[in-house]
Amino acid sequence: MREAALFGSCPRCGARTLFDGLIKFANKCSRCGLDYSRFNVGDGPAAFLTLGVGTIIVVLALWLQLSVEPPWWVHVILWVPLTILGVIAGLRFTKAWLLVAEYQRRAEEHRHDGSDLS
Ligand SMILES: [Zn+2]
Repeated sequence: MREAALFGSCPRCGARTLFDGLIKFANKCSRCGLDYSRFNVGDGPAAFLTLGVGTIIVVLALWLQLSVEPPWWVHVILWVPLTILGVIAGLRFTKAWLLVAEYQRRAEEHRHDGSDLS
């Protein structure tokens, strides 16, 4: 499950078909046909994630400033790409992880024949 989230793999067949573009899900798995659009992961995690990445970057930037006092452009070329990369990587992982969790929860419900054990 962690691997599926890391690599954006289909939770059913394991092919890396989950993403169509950087952070956008494909409509369905091009190998086994699992319909990804049934899973409503939403953009809820995006806000938290951006806040988290932002906090880390600010702390790192402050630390760099206080310890080496680099010129201002060092901050720009360092933190702008790092922030973007951090948000994209984090979003991919979080969204894939939520979808895989959702898939496994549904598979579990099927196994229990629809009885609600949650
Ligand atoms: Zn698949």
